[in-house]
Amino acid sequence: KCHNELVRLKGNIRVFCRVRPVSQEELDSAEAGTALSFDSDDDAVLYLSSRGKVMTFELDKVFPPQASQEEVFQEVQALVTSCIDGFNVCIFAYGQTGSGKTYTMEGVTSDPGINQRALRLLFAEVTEKNLDWEYRIVVSLVEIYNETLRDLLRQNPTDKLDIKLNPDGSGQLYVPGLTEIAVQSPEDINRVFELGQVNRATACTNLNEHSSRSHALLIISVSGFNSTTGTRTQGKLNLVDLAGSERIGKSGAEGSRLREAQCINKSLSALGDVISALRSRHAHVPFRNSRLTYLLQDSLSGDSKTLMMVQVSPLPGNVSESVCSLKFAQRVR
Ligand code: ADP
Ligand code: MG
Repeated sequence: KCHNELVRLKGNIRVFCRVRPVSQEELDSAEAGTALSFDSDDDAVLYLSSRGKVMTFELDKVFPPQASQEEVFQEVQALVTSCIDGFNVCIFAYGQTGSGKTYTMEGVTSDPGINQRALRLLFAEVTEKNLDWEYRIVVSLVEIYNETLRDLLRQNPTDKLDIKLNPDGSGQLYVPGLTEIAVQSPEDINRVFELGQVNRATACTNLNEHSSRSHALLIISVSGFNSTTGTRTQGKLNLVDLAGSERIGKSGAEGSRLREAQCINKSLSALGDVISALRSRHAHVPFRNSRLTYLLQDSLSGDSKTLMMVQVSPLPGNVSESVCSLKFAQRVR
């Protein structure tokens, strides 16, 4: 436990794991059972049993299936609000399709996930902050599919976008033409999420299939100005629902499926490479190996904070993918 505390304080990269519950359908089928177990004394340990062997994984925190959206959010809240103080933050949901990534980030109407909770909390915090400070929150919604960026707040999200280096010499990256919605009321927040849903649904025929093969990013920028001291802050929170990590490349995919698989593998391994290079303080961090890491370069480097939420399914039939996801977790931790 003490060791975990140390690790948590030392670095800016945290790795959590969330195990989704077994659904009623699965309970009714032969798929029932669980390959995962928890340690009642240590909420940073997860045990996985496979063919009579037990593997132990150590993370910064493990959320068992019964953990609520609220409990999960409580653990990420401090990270979320640090962007008001000018920090850049990334929260990623990683895992195979069906492991609960979208549930964690988007959630469901009756029980929203990190995205909505974060935006609402940030809005509440900056509107009640002390009088000297004025804040502005703007939001973008981006999808990366086959190494192509799309603007989900635009009616025609099929228009491709580019990532450019800011010409002001600051080394900052920006995306010319990317829609930004200023959030000035709770209604604006609803509008952002509704627009995102509608635009994503109209842009593709099979939403589920498409979203498991693309990365969805909610980017929240918070800029502050103190009128008394003239101080400015600029922070950014990137909330990322990653493409499914399952190894689809192996199963004899061809043509466009193969291209998709290659793009997903490339960007997920590029993300792992970048985070482990940052973790071990390598001089060279290969940001440019994928659109995802290139776009998030500012928010992954320097004194930025990163949280990797590794999602796993408890089903025995998903054990080999769960092992892969937990190995990824160990690599970036
Ligand atoms: P992914 O985005 O990784 O493909 P989903 O978030 O769509 O996975 O989750 C798959 C299914 O499991 C969905 O029906 C989702 O509502 C359900 N689910 C996932 N996590 C939870 C959870 N913690 N509690 C209740 N239902 C969950
Ligand atoms: Mg999903």
